[in-house]
Amino acid sequence: MSLQDITARIAKAESAAGRAIGSVKLIAVSKVQPNERVQAVLDQGHRCFGENRVQEAAGKWPGFTAQFPDVDLHLIGPLQTNKARQAMELFSTIHSVDRPKLAKTLARLAQEVGSCPDLFIQVNTGEEEQKAGILPADADTFIAECRDLDLPVQGLMCIPPVDEEPALHFALLAKIAERNGLRDLSMGMSGDFEKAIALGATHVRVGSAIFGERVKPQE
Ligand SMILES: *Cc1c(COP(=O)(O)O)cnc(C)c1O
Repeated sequence: MSLQDITARIAKAESAAGRAIGSVKLIAVSKVQPNERVQAVLDQGHRCFGENRVQEAAGKWPGFTAQFPDVDLHLIGPLQTNKARQAMELFSTIHSVDRPKLAKTLARLAQEVGSCPDLFIQVNTGEEEQKAGILPADADTFIAECRDLDLPVQGLMCIPPVDEEPALHFALLAKIAERNGLRDLSMGMSGDFEKAIALGATHVRVGSAIFGERVKPQE
């Protein structure tokens, strides 16, 4: 697959869902990809990228942003509070706000710095032990708590369990967002982004379908 193929598939899914062409943001997930593959996608004009680790992004991106100042970086992986300050400097958007302690830290830093990235609250829709995210039953309370802290919560994010039908999880996320008056939904990856768009995704996070299989595992 190429960037062009993915963009065409997104456009097709948008129109099938009766949504405006170009209304879904494509986040090209570049974690662990060799720099030459990232460079190739930048050279084709794409500017929105996702990384799941602060450290890796901090090493990889300053070189590219010197070349392409309009790069828009999204953090899609778990965030430790001791890396929050660095994350706020690197990323325009954080998709993984998932616990009160992190929300409070972000709120304090936002006060101090005078700005804050756009935020998504990650919901653990599959209630998986090993996965980050607030449980669906706790989501309404947590969203309210983030709003009380004046955090710019833009929407919700989920990563469905690998062995389950993702549509059920996308629909659940959409429902939680709707009842909380949140419009943006960060959902859908290489294998299921069209389904996610059909169910209201505004941001899809696509890695391997654009860049090819990740060369090395992350850990
Ligand atoms: C790696 C990753 C993706 C992209 O996965 P692909 O299957 O390669 O498209 C999307 N979202 C998150 C949170 C990820 O960590």
